[in-house]
Amino acid sequence: MNKLDDEKIGLWRARQRMTRHQLSSRGIQDERVLEAISRIPREAFVPEALRDRAYDDTPLPIGDGQTISQPYIVALMTQTLELHGDEKVLEIGTGSGYQAAVLAQICQKVFSIERSYSLSAHARKILEDLGYTNILLRVGDGTVGWAEFSPYDRIVVTAAAPSIPKTLSNQLKIGGMLIVPVGDRLQQELMVLRRTETDFTIQSAGPCVFVPLIGREGWSN
Ligand code: SAH
Repeated sequence: MNKLDDEKIGLWRARQRMTRHQLSSRGIQDERVLEAISRIPREAFVPEALRDRAYDDTPLPIGDGQTISQPYIVALMTQTLELHGDEKVLEIGTGSGYQAAVLAQICQKVFSIERSYSLSAHARKILEDLGYTNILLRVGDGTVGWAEFSPYDRIVVTAAAPSIPKTLSNQLKIGGMLIVPVGDRLQQELMVLRRTETDFTIQSAGPCVFVPLIGREGWSN
């Protein structure tokens, strides 16, 4: 066996360990989520120099002052979305592309918007190399959604907003769900909004910390 095989096996082991110790043991029980995460090579989404930390229990820098979220948070958000497989999902904040890959393993089609051109271009390359064909990426201000393909079954915002972006909630299907961290720039609550026939219901899924959502219906800078 050569050094490359050794490295690959080591990363595979680290991924299975992470799935057990950071996810299953903390209440991630959705088999689809565990299966998706145990298959996706997270090391492909982090900078080369951090590859050996790809399965650490922490967010990691991905350039442009942004981060790839902690694996547990990705799993929690995905589990909270209660996906069944036939959904059309909109993600705001493509970042590394990792959350988009997790969603794409589980649902039918993922639309993901990123404001940084370089991050989006990098994510596109990784997702193409891994063979994903059900993810559509766009550069722009995600706080105003992606009207062209709306309404969506689910919308997930992976950056922190000062309040729930109205335009996004209006791009939800009836029966659809939006997840968004809402709070100040240092700490937020993960808010879960459901659209009913006539109204919206809101619940909290616990505290979290995300980088800021910058745009028309987010922070101004
Ligand atoms: N989901 C990502 C992590 C996202 S970090 C992953 O799996 O790696 C949050 C991202 O949101 C950053 O890349 C940031 O540039 C982006 N962002 C912030 N405001 C945005 C906006 N208004 N529209 C789109 N992307 C935005």
